[in-house]
Amino acid sequence: MPKLPNWLTDSLVLQRERQLWRQTKVLAAPQNTQMSLAGETYLSFCSNDYLGLADHPALKQALAEGALRYGAGSGSSHLVSGHLDIHDQLEQALAQWLGVERVLLFSTGYMANLAVISALGGKDCPILQDKLNHASLIDGAQLSQAPWRRYLHGNVDSAAKMMARMEQLGLLVTDGVFSMDGDIAPLSELVVLADQEHWMTMVDDAHGLGCLGDQGQGSLSLAGLKADAVTLLVGTFGKAFGTAGAFVACSQEMAEYLTQFARPYIYTTAMAPAMAAATLASLELICSAEGDQRRQRLSNNIALFKQSLPTQGVTLMASDTAIQPIVIGDSGRAMAVSAFLQQQGILCTAIRPPTVPAGSARLRITLSADHTQEDIVLLCRKLADAIDYTSGGE
Ligand code: PMP
Repeated sequence: MPKLPNWLTDSLVLQRERQLWRQTKVLAAPQNTQMSLAGETYLSFCSNDYLGLADHPALKQALAEGALRYGAGSGSSHLVSGHLDIHDQLEQALAQWLGVERVLLFSTGYMANLAVISALGGKDCPILQDKLNHASLIDGAQLSQAPWRRYLHGNVDSAAKMMARMEQLGLLVTDGVFSMDGDIAPLSELVVLADQEHWMTMVDDAHGLGCLGDQGQGSLSLAGLKADAVTLLVGTFGKAFGTAGAFVACSQEMAEYLTQFARPYIYTTAMAPAMAAATLASLELICSAEGDQRRQRLSNNIALFKQSLPTQGVTLMASDTAIQPIVIGDSGRAMAVSAFLQQQGILCTAIRPPTVPAGSARLRITLSADHTQEDIVLLCRKLADAIDYTSGGE
């Protein structure tokens, strides 16, 4: 193969030297609390399968039946011939669940965020975002070429000040649950601010939908708001739903606008119809008594984790969600803690800059409704050992 340029190989060397090397793990089992890696079985605390639905028999059955009925792929984009009746059923069921006029499906959450922000942002529509918003929201703003700024994390005053300084009405964007900190945006206050100033609002609730609020309706529901309190609500299926893909919930008019102008919606293949069938099965479970039980088990696990954590050497973040990060600080040490846990049979990912701010490398522990109490207690015991082992006599 042709030789690669020096700037490229140099950047790889630097990445290793800075302890920022990223690597894929090849796992050999369904997404579950037990994962198989290189022939060993581990207890996993790194999946976003918060409700334990990815390996649920009802979803697998719906996926298999969907594939038998519709084939493996959608064959084209939604606007050509890739939008099948099962996509339509899923859109309508999601719209009904959330009480909104329309839902549009996307193949991934990353694409949904790029699509919305790049279609709306521009020189006449500035964008204001929380400093810790997900990378896809930041990338959407960059793609839009709109003037955009980031307000201090979770700080409504900072958002208000920046808004006042912007000359045009724009789009206020926030995660519902922040993906690396696990805390929840001050949605009620942000909605009041945006309404007062006549700005549009967008909430990416990838980590809240399914897990939080009435019938799993997410962070907005937890804040006592309906989904139609915001201009756009984005949800993803790769987390609590246990499948893959994403959606945008909005008004009829906004859906029409996105259909005309959102390039990452128009120019890409629609999600596989079988995946839409599995997601419909997942939505039914999320809204059912089983969904309530799973949310209750998850919330019991979160409480148990917070109670059982060692107090020495561990900084917990202000999170009451399934994302429970433990800030270690130094990237090398975060990797060492993660490696120690792996030797002890526990998988837990270290997250380093630039995904999180410099000096705040952390273990991103994610809890599932399917973890047992013994799993959680074991994790806390091993975490204490890992912190001790890597403290170097601090
Ligand atoms: N938004 C947030 C807040 C996320 O955490 C993620 C994925 N980690 C996405 C969007 C992207 O979703 P997807 O994985 O479906 O592309």
